[in-house]
Amino acid sequence: MRTIRKPYLPYFSSAFMALLILTFMLNACQNGSQDAPTSKTEEFQVLADQFADLQVLRYRIPGFENLSLQQKELLYYLSQAARSGHDIIWDQNYKHNLVIRKTLENIVEHYEGNRKDPRWEQFMVYTKRVWFSNGIHHHYSTRKLLPEFDTTYWNTLIQGCPKANFPITPAYANPSQLAAFLQPIMFDPKRDAKRVNQEAGVDLVTGSANNFYSGVTQKEVEAYYKPLKNPNDTTPVWFGLNSRLTKVNGKVTEIPWKSGGLYGQAIDRILFWLQKAVTVAENPKQKKALELLIAYYQTGDLKTWDAYNIAWVQDTESMIDVVNGFIEVYGDPLGMRASYESVVSFKDMEATKRIKAIGDQAQWFEDQSPILPEHKKAKVTGISAKVITVVQEAGDASPSTPIGINLPNADWIRKMHGSKSVALGNIVYAYNEMGAKGSSIQEFAWDQAEIDRSRQYGPLAGDLHTDLHEVIGHASGQLNPGIGTPKETLKQYASTLEEARADLVALYYIMDPKLIELGVMPSLEVGKAEYDGYIRNGLMLQLRRLEAGENLEESHMRNRQLNAGWAYQKGLANKVIERRQRDGKTYFVVNDYQALRELFGQLLREIQRIKSEGDFKAGQALVETYGVQVDQALVAEVKKRFESIQSKPYSGFIQPRLVPILVNGQIKDVKVEYPDNFVEQMMEFGREYATLPVVN
Ligand code: ZN
Repeated sequence: MRTIRKPYLPYFSSAFMALLILTFMLNACQNGSQDAPTSKTEEFQVLADQFADLQVLRYRIPGFENLSLQQKELLYYLSQAARSGHDIIWDQNYKHNLVIRKTLENIVEHYEGNRKDPRWEQFMVYTKRVWFSNGIHHHYSTRKLLPEFDTTYWNTLIQGCPKANFPITPAYANPSQLAAFLQPIMFDPKRDAKRVNQEAGVDLVTGSANNFYSGVTQKEVEAYYKPLKNPNDTTPVWFGLNSRLTKVNGKVTEIPWKSGGLYGQAIDRILFWLQKAVTVAENPKQKKALELLIAYYQTGDLKTWDAYNIAWVQDTESMIDVVNGFIEVYGDPLGMRASYESVVSFKDMEATKRIKAIGDQAQWFEDQSPILPEHKKAKVTGISAKVITVVQEAGDASPSTPIGINLPNADWIRKMHGSKSVALGNIVYAYNEMGAKGSSIQEFAWDQAEIDRSRQYGPLAGDLHTDLHEVIGHASGQLNPGIGTPKETLKQYASTLEEARADLVALYYIMDPKLIELGVMPSLEVGKAEYDGYIRNGLMLQLRRLEAGENLEESHMRNRQLNAGWAYQKGLANKVIERRQRDGKTYFVVNDYQALRELFGQLLREIQRIKSEGDFKAGQALVETYGVQVDQALVAEVKKRFESIQSKPYSGFIQPRLVPILVNGQIKDVKVEYPDNFVEQMMEFGREYATLPVVN
């Protein structure tokens, strides 16, 4: 599970920011690093590019120089392994993505026509949007991106590249045929309009454009897996996780992603680098985990995947960590098949103290929780929380990135062996630097007190919310015996309800004096700042991301409106949250923070009950009633009010480059470079990590 950044959480320089900067300064002083943010704050540009609704940022790797040669070497191999799966996510997202990307990249490299033509700019914006989303569907809304230039110009572009090395298959044997083949795929708004379709009442499989399924209906998928599942199995594998489901000679068949199978060429390259990584593992536990990951990629065996996850959870001592595999299932409306991603990192020892202080109290939080006694874990095991410094992200985690990760996803492994929760420290730091420049708080806060509270406590509130969400939220609660996994029982509502549940745990405890006692926050003002921001965002600010006429689709957005909207409705009689108007503008104002906390607790209890009992009907009713419909007049108002604020709704990152310094074929050091050109990086990745053939 992942946490993504709340849109427009205001960030300001504050006591906490100063503390954070001090932490980085100390790191910098200790290692004399060239990469440390402090000495180069002026020179280092966080913002690299802005286009459409997107901005591309850069992050640094403070403390890298301080690592041992062996650790740097390990990070280099893991980063190469991460990058080697580049093509996989493209093909997973949509069957025509690879041919489109290769065609666009050829045009960028070889077009001999006029690059001063305004349509060339439109072409580049389209291409950058496609790169950002790892395909032609928006990374967040999953709606198809439509070019601003027309089909005539499209043909001009293709014909203007005589030296191009366009992809060729029997379906398009020359550039003209290629242009004609791609034209409806790129320009027809109705064709494959959404990558992930969650609408109630449609066939989620045939209605979604992702490439996880081919030629099968939702009914056929469900019928295929039903007999495989044993309700008495206490350690079930995650069916479908690493395969495409299709028909072979009319028979529904899984085609696994593994060495020698689908995506085998990319996976073999991942394996090459993982095998090098094993030779420089930090300790036996880490080595064992990496070896199991290798065995899993070689065989595609899901039992081996589970064994790997258990070994990975048990490796808590290593400085360096990696997520690599088919991990998150947000891209599959049925929540079965996982997207390729990798996050390579090392531990941020200083910042980890905060998150650890919370993680160490997991049992206390579980015992005090407002959920029903039978849904509480008697013993919360193995919560491992840390702040990490990201070195490289790939696949579904790049360019758009999570700010928190909680894995593994299998409920039984989490229950029996625990899970790892991480906050991506240097990514959040880059967001804060960027966010300090433009903010929505002046426009959307009701009064000066709310603005001041946000300025003083907003960043800390954001960090604590993430910590609580990941470390306590996802790890809390238990399913009733014999109940299927939430993906099975709650289906397309599982992700929204799980994110809502984790948010509610965070919201409930961020107003608890326990956090003051633990020394992680100075006063309940932090909790109030979080409540202000959560309500403001959940009921208003996030609407900026919608187009006129749209309702909410994405799980995290649905969950935020569900939590905020439910509390607003339930507290209406007592004016717990009040909707006010001033100068024709709408504001949501929290009047009673303690009452709001109680409401969050009630909703937490109900959503935990829904998860524990697998109550699909109640879950569906909650999400559909509070989490989907939006007030279109309010959407229009919010978008209008945002016009004066300079920021883009979505951010992604350019990846640093690790460069090995070789002497006589041996790695003697690894240097970090910070590229600053998004186009160049995408062209480089397309060139250097092209592994899969174009088949569609
Ligand atoms: Zn989450």
